[in-house]
Amino acid sequence: MDKMTLTYKLDSDEFKNLYMKREDMIPYSFGGNKARKAVLFQKEVRKGDYDCVVTYGSSHSNHCRVIANMAAASGKKCIIIEPSEVSDETNNSRLIEVFGAEFITVHVSEVRKTIDDTLERLKSEGHKPYFIMGGGHGNIGTQAYVNCYREIKEFEKENDIKFDYIFFASGTGTTQAGLVCGQLLEEDDRKIVGISIARKNPRGRDVVLESIRDYLGKDPVSLSGRSITEADIQDKTIFLDDYIGDGYGIINPEILKTIKTVLIKYGVALDGTYTGKAFWGMSQYVRQNNLADKNILFIHTGGTPLFFDDLNKLWRKA
Ligand SMILES: *Cc1c(COP(=O)(O)O)cnc(C)c1O
Repeated sequence: MDKMTLTYKLDSDEFKNLYMKREDMIPYSFGGNKARKAVLFQKEVRKGDYDCVVTYGSSHSNHCRVIANMAAASGKKCIIIEPSEVSDETNNSRLIEVFGAEFITVHVSEVRKTIDDTLERLKSEGHKPYFIMGGGHGNIGTQAYVNCYREIKEFEKENDIKFDYIFFASGTGTTQAGLVCGQLLEEDDRKIVGISIARKNPRGRDVVLESIRDYLGKDPVSLSGRSITEADIQDKTIFLDDYIGDGYGIINPEILKTIKTVLIKYGVALDGTYTGKAFWGMSQYVRQNNLADKNILFIHTGGTPLFFDDLNKLWRKA
């Protein structure tokens, strides 16, 4: 099986067997989990003969950058509904402008209505718009990470290792939902741990659970035909909200230190909103629970443009 990204062992003093899967190196539009999802959205757009794409997200959004790139590549119009609360200029917003996407900036409470109005307007103008939920949420996004889970299994088989723990940054939740669905379908026993970057429990976990149920459908069965119960779903969904700090995009000094250490030690760029927070959260969790001798996989979910947004905070300060 062709894998989209490389997995390898990090030379860590602290963890015995720490591996990283480099989703940030997906060879499209600076990579990341949104690029893996976008490949599947691209297929839908081609299949359905759509002539424009509508989505939403903030000016920091990796998802919006990848979708804007994808639309521009095929000469399609792209409209992004953006909340005015997070609309400052960033590397992603600059890239989105390079791709020629149109921002519609509204108060966060107006986002839903603006999406509906925009889709209606486009249709009345004779367009055929394809709508993508923020963050690539939905079954297509989940499918992308079921595929990723299969790549991880393949890696394990080829390298004669089994990961006891898989850690990554969890946001809108389909990355986690896909990984957990993959695990449930294969009936594997391991801990898949989403480190929340903003949402608190129970809501954060509930959103992941909904995505899992939605993807698996009614009366789900594993690949071997055993039924997957609600108890299985509950048992496999681990969503930690202990490392959010002060919320979305807020970087505490410990996260900055983690980013700097990982950059120097491994030559890998993490950002403060997603991967830096998740790596820091993972390190804390592993220490607190004495897991340093376990086989651990960290999935680097991307966000390279955000690393450069954060670079001035690292430079001299951290
Ligand atoms: C969007 C994003 C996440 C979270 O992914 P979800 O599928 O929304 O949970 C994690 N890391 C990065 C870099 C992201 O851009």
